[in-house]
Amino acid sequence: MRRIYLDHAATTPVAPRVREAMMPYLEEKFGNPSSIHSFGREAAEAIDEARQALAALIGAQPEEIIFTSGGSESDTMALFGVFQARQNKAGREPSRGGNHLITTAIEHHAVLHTCQALEKRGARVTYLPVDKYGLVAPEQVAEAISDETILVSVMHANNEIGAIEPVAEIGRICRERGVVFHTDAVQTIGHIPVDVGAMNADLLSLSAHKLYGPKGVGALYRRRGTRITPLIYGGGHERGLRSGTENVAGIAGLGAAARLAQQEMAAEDPRQAALRDRLLNGIEERIPDIIRTGHPTRRLPNSASVCIRYVEGESMLLNLDFAGIAASSGSACTSGSLEASHVLLAIGLEHDVAHGSLRLTLGHDNTDEDIVQVLETLPPIVGKLRAISPLYPGKGAS
Ligand SMILES: *Cc1c(COP(=O)(O)O)cnc(C)c1O
Repeated sequence: MRRIYLDHAATTPVAPRVREAMMPYLEEKFGNPSSIHSFGREAAEAIDEARQALAALIGAQPEEIIFTSGGSESDTMALFGVFQARQNKAGREPSRGGNHLITTAIEHHAVLHTCQALEKRGARVTYLPVDKYGLVAPEQVAEAISDETILVSVMHANNEIGAIEPVAEIGRICRERGVVFHTDAVQTIGHIPVDVGAMNADLLSLSAHKLYGPKGVGALYRRRGTRITPLIYGGGHERGLRSGTENVAGIAGLGAAARLAQQEMAAEDPRQAALRDRLLNGIEERIPDIIRTGHPTRRLPNSASVCIRYVEGESMLLNLDFAGIAASSGSACTSGSLEASHVLLAIGLEHDVAHGSLRLTLGHDNTDEDIVQVLETLPPIVGKLRAISPLYPGKGAS
């Protein structure tokens, strides 16, 4: 059976060129980058090159890149780091401090659960609502900022519904009000153009395995002068902000993935957007009672998301998988639990509608043929599930 992978928001395959760039550091170039000898130097060079490639992709300076273990660590580091550096310390903090953070109801759990952990340590967190398309209003960010606010964290694009947030506008407001701005750009780096300057971002999270790199490596962009404390202490690697012997092969892979993205994005974006639109229109034509989720135009080129009424998402995924199609019903960690996605509830969907969510996220290897196959496979599955659903009003029909 030909298998079709349509879950690129969960993870992407490692691109052949990325794998090639990594291999020497798993084989003969195994040195510790901190070592003085030639083994160490060739490993250190690989890290320098990756740092430059990644910085170039996002419009940063190489010294503003901190390599981490991935998106979750970068998010946690940004939030904990700013909170610990700027939290009010009675009489000891000369520059502006406070304990107030602002984020949104639709962030990844790496941000939301970190916020909860910070609340237990004395932070006050405002969770901004979103509109029915999943967008945050910049005016609401402006209204929520007070003298106590130290950080605003708004994701660049949502991983479940693909909505692209007005981060440049939000970043500008933060800049004017002297508040640090962090954005989780894990879903956009390597997929759409990102420029940390145009975005007014002080901190930005990214993860290699979402852009055809390996798992377990990512980065935090930190604008020069943005004060954060480390999460991991030790030998003072990454300018003292993230100690630990570097994941050299992983970092080389991230660098190669950044170079690959820079070369391919301009052609891949319109190609994937066309496939996405064919997929969405085709689903809508073939299946009644569909709700598109996310914004019609402000969305990731590779992301198609819908809710299919009177169908249970998990059953749909299992049936699709049986037919060789790998899809998702929201975020990877939300699938597998019976709780409705916090993102779909935040855009105002009822629990039973949210349970029928389907996310199809495209990648480099997907073709027209894949779309045809999904459009042939999905409608009979939905018909079958609706026929046995007690909720379906047209019971018996498909
Ligand atoms: C995948 C993802 C993360 C987590 O990244 P990891 O590298 O898997 O830890 C964080 N935020 C968003 C939006 C994501 O899609």
